[in-house]
Amino acid sequence: MSRTLATRRVFALLGATLAVVGATQLDLASWRLYVTAFALLLPSYFFSIDVPPPAAIVLPYLSTVTALVYVGGLPIIAVDYLTKLASPRLKTALYRRGLYQPPPMLRPLIEAAAEGRRAPRDVWIDHWANHATGATGLAVRWTAFHLLTTRFPALRPIFAVMLSEVVGQTFWVVLHLFLPVPTASWFAKSRRPWSNFGLDEHTDVAFAMFLFFPFWLLLIYFGYAAYGLPGLVLGAVSSLAPHYVLKLLNDRREASERLKDTNRALELKALALEEKQEELKSFIYTVTHDLKNPLNAIQITADLLRESDGKACSAEGRDHLERIIRIASTSEDMIRDLMELFRVTSSPEPVDWVDLGQVAHQVVDTLAPQIHAKGVCVQVGPLPRLLGQEEKLACVLTNLLSNAVKYVPAGAGEVEVSAKQLNGSVRLCVRDNGIGIPAPYHRNIFELFGRVPSKEQAVDGHVVAGTGVGLAIVKRIVEAHLGEVWVESTPGAGSRFYVQLPAEPA
Ligand code: ADP
Repeated sequence: MSRTLATRRVFALLGATLAVVGATQLDLASWRLYVTAFALLLPSYFFSIDVPPPAAIVLPYLSTVTALVYVGGLPIIAVDYLTKLASPRLKTALYRRGLYQPPPMLRPLIEAAAEGRRAPRDVWIDHWANHATGATGLAVRWTAFHLLTTRFPALRPIFAVMLSEVVGQTFWVVLHLFLPVPTASWFAKSRRPWSNFGLDEHTDVAFAMFLFFPFWLLLIYFGYAAYGLPGLVLGAVSSLAPHYVLKLLNDRREASERLKDTNRALELKALALEEKQEELKSFIYTVTHDLKNPLNAIQITADLLRESDGKACSAEGRDHLERIIRIASTSEDMIRDLMELFRVTSSPEPVDWVDLGQVAHQVVDTLAPQIHAKGVCVQVGPLPRLLGQEEKLACVLTNLLSNAVKYVPAGAGEVEVSAKQLNGSVRLCVRDNGIGIPAPYHRNIFELFGRVPSKEQAVDGHVVAGTGVGLAIVKRIVEAHLGEVWVESTPGAGSRFYVQLPAEPA
């Protein structure tokens, strides 16, 4: 917890405790006095507030001035008026140093002064009108208090209330110097001047003021009446509580507003991302689909040329034709595999319990023609069930098994699928006794189009055709299942492809 927050909480707690203690010891005989004090002071505070919240700043200021006015009489009103005259200069100086944020109504004036310009006439008129009503308000209040306390001496304790406020405000101002108050952000955000207590987005602050104000006055008065000067000081200190409660409320609301803003921004980003993904999907689909046709046409045309005029060509010309056909065919295969990668990885599929043994047997059935053609011996050991996407896991096994069959020698090939239960995960292994993979390619073969160069991967003296897309599909699916895939292999001694998947992904 930050020091500021801790201090605010301490003050809020102190205030609340004193309020409860005060209430239990209240001299009920004088309740009229309290009610009158409250009724008199409340309007005088509220109707003078014409700057944005936090009222915590305004209330202390007003009560201090009111108290001084009460003590000092009309001369103080004059002093207050003169200070207000000087205040734009002081505020401008503070604003230049970044120590003061003017409220909206003062902003044009202060900004103009800070830039060495003279503010427009109507801004000045507004300013003087504000001062005039402020000073008049003070004069009216002073007269009212004066008349009331002369006529009804019983109201004199209000005097004590005022005095203790002065003490309280002094404390408050001193503390205020050390504690950051979120006023600047309030001012900056406020779209219109805070007028009295219109119940709008500041409702909770207004509500808190209603809630604490009576306690506040009672505490101060009670402190003085019951315990003299120490009581007055205690009451004054406790009068700080509302300020801190207001600030706590303020902070909380600001934090929740920030959270709302962040959530909204996140939602918008997610939406934009989804849209982009859709756009990308259709782009990839169109490109791959459209590329297939011209490639196909190239292949067919070259084929026709070979059939019709192949014999008339020189040996070199025939070689070129063969190469065109080969390259077009490989490119077509690549596009087909790319589309497959795209289809498999982007198709939505529910997560459910998957019986890997059953899936592996189905895959072996599908690959039966290749397996028999090469006379490969395929064994599937007991495999567990796990939570995942069945079609995608079948695709992983298909790719690994078809590779194994592809890269073993004809007639002597052995392929084995086994699994091991580890702590919270399942490790699948597809082992073969094929040509193996040189170490420098162990990572690269899982990338898109990553292949061992044709020269280094002949099986039975023949180059093995392929596109380098299969293992990239495997890697994407396994990673989407929060798993890992890797290979252990030595050239000439076969390969072991491992797939480790969480038994129950989160
Ligand atoms: P493709 O087999 O179509 O080329 P893959 O992505 O499935 O594409 O495999 C990438 C490369 O990894 C292959 O070209 C091959 O060099 C190597 N490879 C994959 N599986 C095996 C295996 N069981 N034995 C030897 N090499 C393999």
